[in-house]
Amino acid sequence: MYQGLIHRYKNFLDLPEHTKIISLNEGNTPLIPMPRLSKELGCEIYIKFEGLNPTGSFKDRGMTAAISEAVGRGAETVICASTGNTAASAAAYAARAGLRSIVLIPEGKVAVGKLAGAIAYGAQVIQIQGSFDDALSLVVEITQKTPIALVNSINPFRIEGQKTAAFEICDDLNAAPDWLCLPVGNAGNITSYWAGFKQYQKGLPRLLGVQAVGSAPLVFGHTFEKPETIATAIRIGKPARGEQALEAASESKGKIIAVSDEEILSAQKILAGEGVWVEPASAAGVAGLIAESTKSQFEAKGKRVVVVCTGHGMKDPAIITESFQSPKIIPASYESLAEVIFSK
Ligand SMILES: *Cc1c(COP(=O)(O)O)cnc(C)c1O
Repeated sequence: MYQGLIHRYKNFLDLPEHTKIISLNEGNTPLIPMPRLSKELGCEIYIKFEGLNPTGSFKDRGMTAAISEAVGRGAETVICASTGNTAASAAAYAARAGLRSIVLIPEGKVAVGKLAGAIAYGAQVIQIQGSFDDALSLVVEITQKTPIALVNSINPFRIEGQKTAAFEICDDLNAAPDWLCLPVGNAGNITSYWAGFKQYQKGLPRLLGVQAVGSAPLVFGHTFEKPETIATAIRIGKPARGEQALEAASESKGKIIAVSDEEILSAQKILAGEGVWVEPASAAGVAGLIAESTKSQFEAKGKRVVVVCTGHGMKDPAIITESFQSPKIIPASYESLAEVIFSK
């Protein structure tokens, strides 16, 4: 029986002796082929659908490692700053371990499915009048001054856990893909993938990291004081692992680019149109690949491409429900039904 990713990849993870495994059987997510999008763009595209983790995002990979380490060394309380998914994940794994969890979120900017998750799993949720970056600074300060354990991705064990996504891709394809496309926010995930591919020695992909134009410090080369994008999970103006992300991209002969919110929403629609509903930030990788494909020199042409879709569409239902027309209401009769279905 599958018992979670620490159990599966123990020998590849640099976790201390005292680690006590806390798992919700995270990881082992599917690599889904995308025949229609592949045909359209002229490459072989697979989605690594991380929305199918226990709390609906890839954050569970790092969280099983961070919480397992924290529990093993006797921590009683964990804290994180979050745009939402880290909060839900930390809360779930803390609950599983019997720890207290505290999460700091930027006021009013967290998708409802994420906030609800954090509350359901019993976290103490605190809104900060400021950005994610402000919340992260506070979390760093309090964990330096008190025994509370930090579980943001500056925690090295988060990176260890997140490397496993690269291992799984190599195991599924029997080799690394030619390209790996993924959204970049605080830059923990791109750092983890690159470390994972290098360690696993099944080949190295070129990396295409994708930020939102209104929140693209790694593309424009300066921090964003007031990052803006509908892709709230990557609404980060000062990525904690920005340097490492740039290094990874350049070492891989890849790049980090920016796409507009419109491109992100359009990619979200294209993915859903092929049966994969992801939250807006998670569609950034596909948006980036599509943007690249319109260039005269499309480097991924004819290549095998894995696009990481980081979180499930159900995390942010409002982005869909705010813009749709509510479903038509009809009398409960056959005639009415036939009329709506067959009339133009
Ligand atoms: C956290 C998150 C990201 C960004 O990952 P980083 O490691 O911060 O770069 C992207 N998409 C989703 C859905 C996330 O939850």
